[in-house]
Amino acid sequence: MPIKPMARKISCTQCRWSGIYAPPGDAVFEAPPTQCPKCGCEQLKHKPASKVDELVSKFTGQLPS
Ligand SMILES: [Zn+2]
Repeated sequence: MPIKPMARKISCTQCRWSGIYAPPGDAVFEAPPTQCPKCGCEQLKHKPASKVDELVSKFTGQLPS
């Protein structure tokens, strides 16, 4: 049984950057980032995005801090 891909919230452990990676068709990023676009840190935290996170990211392209 296929598992529906979940949107994920990705945040940098070094700076306060964060963003949403959503599955294709509802994409904010084209691919999950492997490093922070802001500071270049490769230690990113991934966790499931909440519905609120997804909605906010659609309007603003980023999350409230
Ligand atoms: Zn960073």
